[in-house]
Amino acid sequence: MSKTKTLDYWIQPHVLQMKGYTSARDTFQANDQEVVLLDANENPNPWGYNRYPDPYQRRLRKVLAARYGLESDYVMLGNGSDEILDLLFRATCQPGKDQCIALPPTYGMYKVLSNLNQVPIIEVPLDEQFQPRVGETLAATTPNTKLMFLCSPNNPTGNLLNRESVEKLLQNFDGLVVIDEAYVDFASEPSWVDRLDMFPNLVVVQTLSKAYGMAGLRLGMCYANPQLIRVLLKIKPPYNINEATQKLALSRLDQGALLESQRLALIDQRIWLQEQLKDIFWVETVFPSQANFVLVRIDDANMRYKQALDKGFVLRNRHGLPGCQQCLRITVGTQEENKALIQQLKKLT
Ligand SMILES: *Cc1c(COP(=O)(O)O)cnc(C)c1O
Repeated sequence: MSKTKTLDYWIQPHVLQMKGYTSARDTFQANDQEVVLLDANENPNPWGYNRYPDPYQRRLRKVLAARYGLESDYVMLGNGSDEILDLLFRATCQPGKDQCIALPPTYGMYKVLSNLNQVPIIEVPLDEQFQPRVGETLAATTPNTKLMFLCSPNNPTGNLLNRESVEKLLQNFDGLVVIDEAYVDFASEPSWVDRLDMFPNLVVVQTLSKAYGMAGLRLGMCYANPQLIRVLLKIKPPYNINEATQKLALSRLDQGALLESQRLALIDQRIWLQEQLKDIFWVETVFPSQANFVLVRIDDANMRYKQALDKGFVLRNRHGLPGCQQCLRITVGTQEENKALIQQLKKLT
């Protein structure tokens, strides 16, 4: 069973004790009431953006929580999920004392943020199937390991992590387990958000940057138990989600049918791309994918990367990452883009 660790165990004492900034818009929410707002030194002439945005993003959080049948107190929002990951470091890890752990090959930001925050990163490589080595991973942790990053579906490999392995890590690791679900909308298994009440140390991070087509707006979501969410809301920059993003995200999330058809079309295109790539003589392995990209192992990643670039296609060269020797990562584009890419790749000698 999961342990009975509480906030005091995970969150740095000074973070628990500090008071957050109280903004003018905190103390009074305008809503529909007829009031004159003279509290925040704003320019009073309206054009849609002259007022500070809601620091608690009440409408947006309600919609994003409801996707999982949750109340708003289970979710906080970040300026991209990268901001959320950074806040998790600052909430939990004392520089020079604590560590985090990640399982490469995986998303590069965990290491960047560990360096920035002076929190050493323990790395235990995934196995040949890109699955966690549960025993070794747990053995590599110490009482000062505060964060474990699991990315599922994993970037750049594309696979989901085994549910049993993730569950064992959740049960046996004393720190927070952060499951990065940037690609969950393309996957065949449900989100870990459904398990929040079972694992108090579970944090699920998602983003509107991929399936929802809002990378330019910067909106990430963090789902966790309400106690932890309260801490993150306290320490985030007060106005981290701007008014334009809040408005546009609400209208985009309202376009359910369009989003669903785009999601399904991208999955179809991924399957088509995988089949086509298997026909290319210099492609050795097309790895299974539960995301909107495909990892391929080929004869010479550096050479093929340059050849594709010469034809006008920018791919991601992942050669050099542990377990990704001679691998390229290819994002699924539009049907026309994918056709054009395959046409060019098939011509290479
Ligand atoms: C793309 C990606 C993100 C995205 O982060 P945003 O800051 O929300 O755009 C997060 N995690 C992984 C694994 C990704 O691939």
